[in-house]
Amino acid sequence: MSYDPQPVASHYINGEHVEDAAGAEIPVIYPASGETIARVHAATPAVVEQALAAADAAKRDWAAMSGTERGRVLRRAADIIRSRNRELSELETLDTGKPLSETLVADATSAADALEYFGGLAGALTGEHVALPGGDFVYTIREPLGVCVGIGAWNYPTQIACWKAAPALACGNTMVFKPSETTPLCALRIAEILTEAGAPPGVFNVVQGMGEVGAALVSDSRVAKVSLTGSVPTGRRVYAMAAEGMKHATMELGGKSPLVIFDDADLDTAVSAAINGNFYSTGQVCSNGTRVFVQAGLVDAFCARVAERMKDAVIGDPMDEATTIGPMVSERQIGIVEGYIAQGKAGGATLVAGGERLDRPGFWITPALFRDVTDDMAIAREEIFGPVMSVMSFDTEEEALARANATEFGLAAGVITRDLARAHRMVAGFEAGSCYINTYNLTPVEAPFGGSKMSGVGRENSRAAIEHYSQMKSVYVALNAPEAPF
Ligand code: NAD
Repeated sequence: MSYDPQPVASHYINGEHVEDAAGAEIPVIYPASGETIARVHAATPAVVEQALAAADAAKRDWAAMSGTERGRVLRRAADIIRSRNRELSELETLDTGKPLSETLVADATSAADALEYFGGLAGALTGEHVALPGGDFVYTIREPLGVCVGIGAWNYPTQIACWKAAPALACGNTMVFKPSETTPLCALRIAEILTEAGAPPGVFNVVQGMGEVGAALVSDSRVAKVSLTGSVPTGRRVYAMAAEGMKHATMELGGKSPLVIFDDADLDTAVSAAINGNFYSTGQVCSNGTRVFVQAGLVDAFCARVAERMKDAVIGDPMDEATTIGPMVSERQIGIVEGYIAQGKAGGATLVAGGERLDRPGFWITPALFRDVTDDMAIAREEIFGPVMSVMSFDTEEEALARANATEFGLAAGVITRDLARAHRMVAGFEAGSCYINTYNLTPVEAPFGGSKMSGVGRENSRAAIEHYSQMKSVYVALNAPEAPF
């Protein structure tokens, strides 16, 4: 380990490190070794109150700054993050176990992209003028919502913090962010960097804790908006709590996304998309295309090629840049994955390769490739959130589309074919928020990201996120005397 990841304190509130050892201890476990590398404390009610009060007190002055001034802070933070990419990537690797080969290019960099993009947009956020007959007109004012709560999952702790903070702060809101209890370290660093970049105290605060701390934040009457990245069951609970207080909500939830591969596809394009869409981050990606529908004539060749390419995966020390597969995040998560692999075998699916727990400390499992999977099997219906690819055979385009959509989830979907007309027909029919043609799982900040059906509500990234972190006030201006009935 190149440095001690123990944070100065568990929480970051009002521009300062805050500790309250009365909160339950949360060990931070390095997934590659199973060792405890740091400890934080869950927020006590007093810490939750302190964070909400700080965000509430900061919101007026932050909103009163010009968008350009706010944007400058975000863009400075983006520059600092880029200049410290290696250090932040190492911290992300310690927090999550994801290999440095990924974190160097996908985490702090993606966080910086979000801060830069929304920082650039902040000065251009305006209302509009609507002309009416007789000279009257309406103008609209785009206003911040106020105090926002962000709650994160454990797979992309740096990215999730910034995908929420950047649009929220750009629009003039303040935020209290609660990272996942599994990966509490990275968001604290983002909070420090925002202060260094000039964010006034209270604008971005971080508190640690389990679900109950999240629930305490969501249900507070000072909070105007909640953005959760997490599972569907948590999303249901948090969305219901937000509804109680008529709060705005963005729900980035789970998925079981289809990747449809036609037999005219370039085989290596199809295999690369499937590998990226199943095994990146050891399969711990919400939008993964884990239901891989392959047209009947291509199934044998596809499975053989995937199995061959899987031999090139480098499973090893995440801090070695040659490593391409790291451990699962936790003992709990690897247990879930092992359970599904056992169910797949017992249910009659054929395990072509992988799926074995490695006999070493930490949470290591080889990526698994199943074929002969049927739509009713648990491995084809439920989100596993691990490196398990299920290949299913299909004959016609209509059949593929119907089966792809036969799920409660609707996060992402992909199609691999050389026939562009067919590709566009497929994406028109997909019931999913983020669709891909001849690639999979790319999430540039310029593109809206989010799910439909049970996978969520609202969109992150792109201009679309602005609509979810601001509200419109409309002002009717009369140039003529009002007409009254009496
Ligand atoms: P999770 O639902 O268990 O927890 C998510 C967060 O919610 C954690 O911070 C947790 O402490 C908090 N939480 C739990 N109960 C709560 C409650 N009652 N009130 C408020 N907060 C509460 O999810 P996880 O295991 O951390 O992450 C994996 C899940 O996240 C998967 O389902 C994955 O698909 C999803 N995910 C979605 C996206 C996306 O953008 N759509 C991205 C990453 C992960």
